[in-house]
Amino acid sequence: MANKGQIGVTTENIFPVIKQFLYSDHEIFLRELVANAVDATQKMKALAASGDCKEELGDLKVRIELDEKEKTLKIIDEGIGMTEEEVDKYINQIAFSSAGEFLEKYKDQIQNIIGHFGLGFYSAFMVSKKVTIETLSWKEGSKAVKWSCDGSPEYEMEEIDKAGRGTVITLYLDDDSKEYAEKSRIEALLNKYCKFMPVPIVFGKEQEWKDGKYVDTDKDKVINSTEPLWTKAPSELKDEDYQNFYRTLFPMNEEPLFYIHLNVDYPFNLTGILYFPKLKDRVAVERNKISLYCNQMFVTDHVDNIVPEFMTLLHGVIDSPDIPLNVSRSYLQSDAAVKKISTYITKKVADRLEGIFKNEREQLEAKWDNLKLFIEYGMLSDEKFCERAMKFALLKNTDGKYFSFEEYEAAVKDQQTDKDKKKVYLYATKADEQYAFIQAAKDKGYDVLLMDCELDSHYVNLLEQKLTDTRFARVDSDAVENLIPKEDRVKLEMKEDERYDLENLFKAALPEGNDYYVTGDNLGAESAPILITQNEFMRRYREMSALGGGMNFYGSMPESYNITVNMEHPIVAKIWAGKQAEVKPQDELPAEAPENASEEEKTKAREAREAVRKAHRADVEAFAAGNEELHQIVDLALLANGMLKGKALADFISRSYSLLK
Ligand code: ADP
Repeated sequence: MANKGQIGVTTENIFPVIKQFLYSDHEIFLRELVANAVDATQKMKALAASGDCKEELGDLKVRIELDEKEKTLKIIDEGIGMTEEEVDKYINQIAFSSAGEFLEKYKDQIQNIIGHFGLGFYSAFMVSKKVTIETLSWKEGSKAVKWSCDGSPEYEMEEIDKAGRGTVITLYLDDDSKEYAEKSRIEALLNKYCKFMPVPIVFGKEQEWKDGKYVDTDKDKVINSTEPLWTKAPSELKDEDYQNFYRTLFPMNEEPLFYIHLNVDYPFNLTGILYFPKLKDRVAVERNKISLYCNQMFVTDHVDNIVPEFMTLLHGVIDSPDIPLNVSRSYLQSDAAVKKISTYITKKVADRLEGIFKNEREQLEAKWDNLKLFIEYGMLSDEKFCERAMKFALLKNTDGKYFSFEEYEAAVKDQQTDKDKKKVYLYATKADEQYAFIQAAKDKGYDVLLMDCELDSHYVNLLEQKLTDTRFARVDSDAVENLIPKEDRVKLEMKEDERYDLENLFKAALPEGNDYYVTGDNLGAESAPILITQNEFMRRYREMSALGGGMNFYGSMPESYNITVNMEHPIVAKIWAGKQAEVKPQDELPAEAPENASEEEKTKAREAREAVRKAHRADVEAFAAGNEELHQIVDLALLANGMLKGKALADFISRSYSLLK
């Protein structure tokens, strides 16, 4: 006898609400229905295990059957099934009434709510014009029932004949959900949401290659792996198993560097495997490759509110029934359980890295270059992680040797402490381009670190805060004599008008478009005639603002360089002597106008002084223009810094040839 009734729902009609709010996420209906089928199957297994059910169960499976022509999709299980009372209670009453109230209250968070407030089953209506449930309970003497509903709040219920225990859910797909009547679409969804569910899920048949095409065999195709690696005990697993599992998760990726198996059941329940990928400089691309599961059911790829930000660079799987899924994202961050989980994961990652540092130092060094971006990012963004990482992070020098912070301090302290008792760590960012500076520093007995990672300008700042009495100086930021000032070295004092001549002389030979600060110094006859350096702090600001994106004050300024002219170098000495001899000294400057002079008189006097200076500067520039040696040493210095380009480079080459003649 067919039985009609009204679904116990407090809001007018829940279906439009479901359809509207879940529009973007329709596909999750399949996860919800398969999860119910898996649940029912596991409950059945539990009954058998406890002896409440004496029946021999065999290998229980969940089946998905698609009829592409009829546009129906069936989810079939051999689980506990439902009696008529249970259908009434779970489907007609509870699921709906509680969902109704809930919807009213939490409209904006509906995406997260589904599946956790008994709305799961009803998500079927997002894609169906009609849904039927045919079910037979495991309880002795039960009668099979069929429930059907066409999306209005009315349902029908009748007794039917049904052969085996369990439930068949049939979806009559909506005209605008035809995409779900395609085999490939269902396959893709099962692969996304159900790949690791704990009960075998069958969809279609295994295929074989026969007579030039693939044909179905009669063997069922199971689409999931019911015991994914993270559910197993770490002690049973080998390195190879972890590598293989990574490959199944990310078939296109390179081998990971290290892995961590997470496994905790108190004070919360969490399992998972996290991999350190080879990062190199690809921070952006490699994000969001941790999948969150709840008892082997896929939930999301976005774990950014669950793990600290830098951890989103890791790859892998976290499975925890203790992460609340029914709350908004902002709430998640302040949730105490989530905070504990986040702290736990950070600690585990740090523990693992410290373990590798202590016990597998060689491995750590071999993989460091690919790992360091992750560690630096972590140290920069997470105070706690930084504290831990100070113990295992490595520094690499330009000879490819690795040091912990402690080791490095011990290694360079004696040579590289300046007159103010500060340790000075020298570093290069480009070993090739800064070769001459690196060499000069090494010749002096200094060590030079290699800091060539995209975050290093920030990282250097961080380390200066963390390491006591230590400062970093880029190896090309000054003459080697000045990088680590030892005692108060007397710098060359030049008279104002000499300094002015030196500046104009060298500026005349330097390329336009940059700012130059030219100074003369005595660096010894053996040192280079000209040093082009960039002020350490100026450069760092520029680099950091470039990393931060957008052009701000520092980013938009012209490049500025310090030009140190080594007055003791024989060629410089010769050029300078030539200038002294050939350029007539500047005429005496006319006097400045007195305080009480008129504006007109003041301007006049200023212009007269300016004219004298200008005339003298023109003389210096004329001398510079005719001096090939000056151009030659300036160009050589530019060349050494990778700054000689285009026409200037071509001119340099032809001048060099003519000088050789
Ligand atoms: P939830 O699964 O979150 O409880 P649902 O709306 O998906 O909410 O399902 C409501 C109830 O209906 C379930 O708790 C379960 O008791 C019952 N149910 C749903 N699907 C099945 C099934 N395939 N077999 C047995 N019982 C089911």
